[in-house]
Amino acid sequence: MDVERLLMPETYNIPRICQKCGGVMIFKGLGEYRCEDCGEQAYDDYGKVRAYIEEHKGATAAQIEDAIGVSQKTIRRLLREGRLEVAEGSRMFLHCELCDKPIRSGRFCPECEVKMHRSMEARDREHAHKELHGFSLGQKGDEGHKRFTRSL
Ligand SMILES: [Zn+2]
Ligand SMILES: [Zn+2]
Repeated sequence: MDVERLLMPETYNIPRICQKCGGVMIFKGLGEYRCEDCGEQAYDDYGKVRAYIEEHKGATAAQIEDAIGVSQKTIRRLLREGRLEVAEGSRMFLHCELCDKPIRSGRFCPECEVKMHRSMEARDREHAHKELHGFSLGQKGDEGHKRFTRSL
């Protein structure tokens, strides 16, 4: 996870130098940057996609790519990481990795997430007596279950 975070700056085309004056771009949050010297604003890929989706609710990955030049691969990656969510009422373009059901963010639908947690718990129980430090997966499973019921 930490390694991925370190790699992210190169992945999302973060603006570092102001296009106008050559000043240093300061991170403002949510993919937005502002020049230290002249106040010029710029966005990384995440910021660009975010801004575009705010204006064009329900845009597909292909439309976003055409409009702002951020690749569909990058968009999917942002969705998988949970940094973006497919808008309410939009045509879904992300699918559960297990059952292929349309989802809004992350990698699995709520049902499969619950299933995954259950099998992880079962596996954990099997190995519990062999391992020195058990993980508290039981608790995570409960959370998954709550999330599932709430989304219904
Ligand atoms: Zn500047
Ligand atoms: Zn699924």
